[in-house]
Amino acid sequence: MTHSEGLIICAGALDRFGEKHQMVKAIEEMGELTRALCKRVADAEDVDVDNICEEIADLEITVTQLHMIFDDALIQKKKAEKLTALRERVNGWRNGKLRQLAEHLKGDCGGDACRL
Ligand SMILES: [Mg+2]
Repeated sequence: MTHSEGLIICAGALDRFGEKHQMVKAIEEMGELTRALCKRVADAEDVDVDNICEEIADLEITVTQLHMIFDDALIQKKKAEKLTALRERVNGWRNGKLRQLAEHLKGDCGGDACRL
């Protein structure tokens, strides 16, 4: 199935069931994915990957509809801002690790303080 076909189906679901109903559906799907992930976090040995993947797919379908209901351009703008902030946090962490490695290699890590 192509991305465009998926969008057409999501638009059809909004026409058929209405925005309010599909917002409630999104809430339900968020809850179902939350439960599936909580099970995974609580007991990593008893993982139902198929169920988690199914709930991610359900949520993605409803999130696509939320993009259609609300301001897709604004969502994309906020997503870009959040990804930029995340990149800065990741890069800060990575730079800290590189600094630790450099200190370790120079022997300046202070022994126990070095976690490498
Ligand atoms: Mg579901």
